[in-house]
Amino acid sequence: MELWFTELQKPGMKISCKVLQTLHREQTPFQEIVLLDTVQFGRMLVLDGAVQVTLLDEFVYHEMLAHVPLHAHPAPKDVLIIGGGDGGTAREVLRHTELESVTLVEIDRRVVDVCRRFLPELSCSYDNPKLQVHFEDGVEYVKNKKACYDVILVDSPDPVGQAARLFSAEFYRAIFEALRPDGIFAAQTESPFVDAELIGRVYRDANRVFPITKLYQAVVPTYPTALWTFTVGSKRYDPETCLRKPLFEDDLRYYNADLHQASFKLPNFVKKLLR
Ligand code: SAM
Repeated sequence: MELWFTELQKPGMKISCKVLQTLHREQTPFQEIVLLDTVQFGRMLVLDGAVQVTLLDEFVYHEMLAHVPLHAHPAPKDVLIIGGGDGGTAREVLRHTELESVTLVEIDRRVVDVCRRFLPELSCSYDNPKLQVHFEDGVEYVKNKKACYDVILVDSPDPVGQAARLFSAEFYRAIFEALRPDGIFAAQTESPFVDAELIGRVYRDANRVFPITKLYQAVVPTYPTALWTFTVGSKRYDPETCLRKPLFEDDLRYYNADLHQASFKLPNFVKKLLR
């Protein structure tokens, strides 16, 4: 008998893949966590029915979320990651050996436990002494911080449930306060084909607080429509043009200096969302 997993991505849109094995399934106080082994995408983390990461394409998302803002900042020392319990973003951030501290704030401890067990390719940095992990709501955590980070990355699920506040104007204002005077933040902001309203709203909310706000894109096949956006807000450096030479480009599978700049070149229909 064949076993298939189907994600209801939008009210009229589903994506399916053939499953070899269900490795783990549990309900936590925050969400349902499922770990699948799939034919096409390898191991896959699913939260509340939505695909979060797969071994086939996670490198695109994690390299682009981490390395674009980190290469745009000339001397980052302290980085905050909100969400990202699978560990993929922390793995990429910690390639920057010049960093002094990386803090990860994940609401659900069980995501980290399950990913440490089943996705060692992503969660391999949890024992790095520079990484501190807090299990609490990222919105509450950021509220109390003033000018203490150089880069803040928001590695969130879709904007539903406890993640909805990670897409709010109030949260972007708090991030602005938590960043040092030349700080940069970046967040994953969904697909321009099916989340146009959200992308426009997030861009305008971020633009009200950050002097420089931009959108960049990457292709992540297992996310709805594959074309994915990231919104970046910066206090001083233009992330499109201020760019340090990547020191470990040969170790990466997606990000490079050419792609950094190219990722800010937007199709016309996406540009229009930002007006
Ligand atoms: N790459 C993924 C995507 O785009 O779908 C996101 C992956 S990561 C697993 C997202 C994490 O954010 C989840 O583990 C979830 O528990 C966490 N999360 C959701 N809401 C949060 C909040 N308010 N504060 C901190 N972490 C949160």
